[in-house]
Amino acid sequence: MRVNYRLQQALWIALFILLVFTPIAVLIIGFTPSTYLYPLYDASLAFGFIGLALMAVQFILTARIKWIKEPFGSDLIYHFHRQISIAAFFLVLAHPILLFIADSRYLNYLNIFTAPISIKLGEIAIFLLILTVISAEYRKKLKIHYDFWKFWHGILATTVVGAALIHIFLTGTYLYYQPLRILWLVYSAIFIVVLLYTRFIYPLLLIHNKYTITSIHEERGQSWTIKLQSTRNKILYFKPGQFAWITTWKTPFFDSEHPFSISSSSEKPQEISFTIKDLGKFTNTVKSMQIGQAVYVDGPHGAFSIDRYPYAEHLVYIAGGIGITPIMSMLRSMADRGDQRPARLFYNNRDWDSITFREEIETIKQLLDLEVIYTLEKPPQKWAGETGFMTQEILHNHLGNAWAQKGTEVFMCGPQVMMNIVKKQLRAEGFLEAQIHYELFNLI
Ligand SMILES: Cc1cc2nc3c(=O)[nH]c(=O)nc-3n(C[C@H](O)[C@H](O)[C@H](O)COP(=O)(O)OP(=O)(O)OC[C@H]3O[C@@H](n4cnc5c(N)ncnc54)[C@H](O)[C@@H]3O)c2cc1C
Repeated sequence: MRVNYRLQQALWIALFILLVFTPIAVLIIGFTPSTYLYPLYDASLAFGFIGLALMAVQFILTARIKWIKEPFGSDLIYHFHRQISIAAFFLVLAHPILLFIADSRYLNYLNIFTAPISIKLGEIAIFLLILTVISAEYRKKLKIHYDFWKFWHGILATTVVGAALIHIFLTGTYLYYQPLRILWLVYSAIFIVVLLYTRFIYPLLLIHNKYTITSIHEERGQSWTIKLQSTRNKILYFKPGQFAWITTWKTPFFDSEHPFSISSSSEKPQEISFTIKDLGKFTNTVKSMQIGQAVYVDGPHGAFSIDRYPYAEHLVYIAGGIGITPIMSMLRSMADRGDQRPARLFYNNRDWDSITFREEIETIKQLLDLEVIYTLEKPPQKWAGETGFMTQEILHNHLGNAWAQKGTEVFMCGPQVMMNIVKKQLRAEGFLEAQIHYELFNLI
């Protein structure tokens, strides 16, 4: 299974490189040096082409196409999307800067009122790109609400790529070379198809994924569990640990989904549950949802699952607070499967009363070969267990020297700060990077 994902990853990376560099390769192969204009001008064009191709590919990356997300995992894809967008931003910025250096007469185009329409479009694209990148990078600092930002991020990005593509066709540099013109037409067509897919076809397909809430109950730790059943007797087959995007609007066309790990067992997919901590605008509404209410579910997504590592001989779970949800799905599934592989659960919480699923974990412990290590920041009096945050000492005390070598896979989900620290501790305990898997609850 691992080899299969690696192969898929390699193929996608190869396709990505091909898409990004083909325009420039066609240009280099198709023109003999004597027909090039002059070096700085050509370099400027090359940066512009690569930057635009990179930006256009982002739409495919973020289109929630399962074949692409499955081998990498959504968090990696979004992380890559962010990094690549920044790279594209600088490449695109280099395009006019090199032109100005090549020939100072291009500076006249900076006057947007007198610049020809083809240049105006390029300038608009760059201006909106700056806005897109700044608002994405500094969203939290600028206190822009997520839903508002997401809506405008989509519109801005679409306008940037659309305007830049028209700019390329109108300015026409080298586009009289037919293969290049055809290539950019193909890219434009792909862009439009992906856009139509994500904005219209995908939400339309989501209508088939209508579920209703069958129960709602409060959990420890300010969380609520909702159970859902498909209105069409559809069964959502998922791997334990995966997540889904859910939206509670009357129609899925409103782009307002939120990602949540499926917390129920993968062995009982007829009814799925999500356990949601009250943390903000949407999560705040879960407690007042109604039984029978419609919920659209888009999933499963994600690569965080024990089922991706069937050869694992030992399993280590590390959870912080609500980060227990995907791990709970894995534990419940193990219990339903009678999976007796040795396992450890390190579970960090503020205090004894806020341990989500505490009672069920104690029951599941009896069914599995599982040791549970609670670490509490504010332990009750006479608490004999671990206190404070996770430390290397705690890991070592409960895993000993041998676990890292035992064919162990580690699954970790919790606050990012915790995961960064624990990852270092695990590495110091001899675990390899490839043995440590984590789910980030903050994709953006
Ligand atoms: C893969 C994954 C699995 C998750 N599983 C769970 C779970 O099982 N239980 C749970 O309680 N939480 C889970 N979360 C976190 C949950 O998605 C956010 O807490 C929730 O979307 C916040 O929405 P809000 O409107 O209540 O918060 P707000 O206060 O409006 O936003 C708080 C922050 O949450 C993030 N956020 C808000 N809306 C979205 C959105 N639509 N998509 C992505 N991020 C958003 C943004 O960074 C935002 O700044 C998961 C997140 C991810 C990425």
